[in-house]
Amino acid sequence: MVNMVDHNKKKLISVLSLLLVSGFLITSLASYYVARSTLRSRIEKSELPLTSDNIYSEIQRDLLRPVFISSLMAHDTFLRDWILNGERDNSLITKYLKEIKEKYNTVTSFFVSEKSRRYYYAGGILKKVKINEPRDEWYFRVREMDKQYEINVDPDMANRDAMTIFVNYKVHDYNNNFIGATGVGLTVSAVKKLIESYQGRYGRVVYFVNKKGKIVLHGSAFPRKSKNIRETRGLSEHSGNILSGKISTFSYQHRGNTVHVNTRFIPEFQWYLVVEQTENRAIENIRYALIVNLGLCALVTLIIILLTNITISFYQKRLEKMATVDNLTETYNRHAFEALFSQAIKELQREHEPVSIVLFDLDLFKNINDEYGHLAGDSIIRGVAGIVQESIRDSDILCRWGGEEFIIILKRCGIQDAFLKAEEIRSAVKSSTFRYEEREISVAISLGVAEYRQDDTKDSVLRRADRALYRAKNNGRNRTEKEDTV
Ligand code: GH3
Ligand code: MG
Ligand code: MG
Repeated sequence: MVNMVDHNKKKLISVLSLLLVSGFLITSLASYYVARSTLRSRIEKSELPLTSDNIYSEIQRDLLRPVFISSLMAHDTFLRDWILNGERDNSLITKYLKEIKEKYNTVTSFFVSEKSRRYYYAGGILKKVKINEPRDEWYFRVREMDKQYEINVDPDMANRDAMTIFVNYKVHDYNNNFIGATGVGLTVSAVKKLIESYQGRYGRVVYFVNKKGKIVLHGSAFPRKSKNIRETRGLSEHSGNILSGKISTFSYQHRGNTVHVNTRFIPEFQWYLVVEQTENRAIENIRYALIVNLGLCALVTLIIILLTNITISFYQKRLEKMATVDNLTETYNRHAFEALFSQAIKELQREHEPVSIVLFDLDLFKNINDEYGHLAGDSIIRGVAGIVQESIRDSDILCRWGGEEFIIILKRCGIQDAFLKAEEIRSAVKSSTFRYEEREISVAISLGVAEYRQDDTKDSVLRRADRALYRAKNNGRNRTEKEDTV
């Protein structure tokens, strides 16, 4: 019975553990995956496009002022008159360009005359533009274009070939004839600073790519080795997409990391702005949360299992006690006797040791009940059980057989020793006085003794003990009788 309860307990606890662990695991993993996909879509749908928008509007804001300055220059009557008057006295135009450069704090300021093809700047005449010179290609493009101005990024020859953003503005005379191009140049350092702030603050990689896929501008700590996105592993497959000019969002794998990418075309530069974010750095927090979550779940599971185990064991013990122990005397009950007797027989037969039983009954108990009341009777039954328990060994077993009848299992005890023990018990009870509500009550017991034999059943040995007890009653009570010897 106990084994079955233990088995059921183990089963319950394993099912409970399984349920808790799988429940916790499912919720933790589900929330991890939800958080990760939310993070991914946040990166793709909002963070990268926003960065791209911010950079783009910053660029446009930075370009507004130089476009305005260049427009002022193109419409300046001094400049136009000086050209129309035959480009005499270079110091005048040089002074003018120098003033512009210093006042507006630009990197360069220039004017190219259509008539003389001279390239004027703050330092004088830089050179003459020539139609077949690749570096002068921009001038002939500006001359032919419909728009009033263009923004062009080129190395500046007047400024040690530093990457420069030029605003090239067309200049017309009063009759709207093209007479040259003027404008200012800015360094890209402002844009570079912006790139670096994004890189440092948000761990994003920002760079610009020209129409041929060449990486033309990036921050100082740039993680790519290759100079062209067509040759960059992971990116090359997407280069067609990037260079098609549409705003595109995609991700690729780089050294085991997922990299999210957003690109857009910047028409003012004819460049593509690329913003990248590696997922791992952002996902670390989510992963950390998952681990903490799983740890807590394991702890909670452990505590629940522990508490369940303690609770079940507690009730298991209580139930076992209730099933086997008599309420009044706290000795074993008849039900427990069955099992305990079988167990004793098995154990002692193996050791070739004898077992005896003593059946006893309180004498004339009805009278005691009648005289002193039922509660007094109860207290005497309890008192007798206490005396008997004290006279037997710890290995011997006292059971309440029912009413005021008890049975004792005496281990390693033949009929003679059992008889002596029974007599000892009888005289201990007889010589005791029991107290109930200040009244002293005496009681005697009659006992029947039998020894378990090889061919006995539980009932046959009990029957012999019962007969002996009957004889003890008949022979005047307060005495012990042995079983009939055959
Ligand atoms: P005898 O010497 O022949 O045994 O006489 P007796 O009066 O003891 O007779 P018997 O054993 O047949 O009667 C038992 C009585 O004990 C009957 C019953 O009212 C009483 N009794 C049985 N169980 C309890 C109990 O738990 N408490 C109390 N107070 N009385 C009980
Ligand atoms: Mg009796
Ligand atoms: Mg009786």
